[in-house]
Amino acid sequence: MNKKDLEKYKDILLEMKEKILGSLSNLEGDNLNKSQKESSGDLSGYSTHLADAASDSYDREFALNLASKEGSILYDIDFALKRIDDGTFGVCEICEKDIPARRLQAVPYASLCIKCQEQEERKDSGRLNNMDPEDAPRWDDVKSEDV
Ligand SMILES: [Zn+2]
Repeated sequence: MNKKDLEKYKDILLEMKEKILGSLSNLEGDNLNKSQKESSGDLSGYSTHLADAASDSYDREFALNLASKEGSILYDIDFALKRIDDGTFGVCEICEKDIPARRLQAVPYASLCIKCQEQEERKDSGRLNNMDPEDAPRWDDVKSEDV
């Protein structure tokens, strides 16, 4: 992918991130705003506990709402931004082929091509619904034992 395209996706991703962070802090309401003010006002306290002030804000984002849909998209966006920096953005993590531009336009933080994504989702959705044919009980065996 050329540099111009990478910059374009970076802009899109950063904009998405800001929007999600904005909506998250609206949801969290006054409590979060207050604690942010308190911790940023006190430079000698909270921040020095952590080795790196940058990881402070990252951890806060990360912890904010990890289980929510927005939280997991946020994680994907950060991961995509990292991939832009290290030059692997736009390449499928599993098969290492280029992710089609059409898919990246729809899902800029995608790290897998559609084919691999579908395979992963099948893996995640549980054994019962998607049992490997080899593992599934065979009707013939069951029947002959019962009779
Ligand atoms: Zn793939």
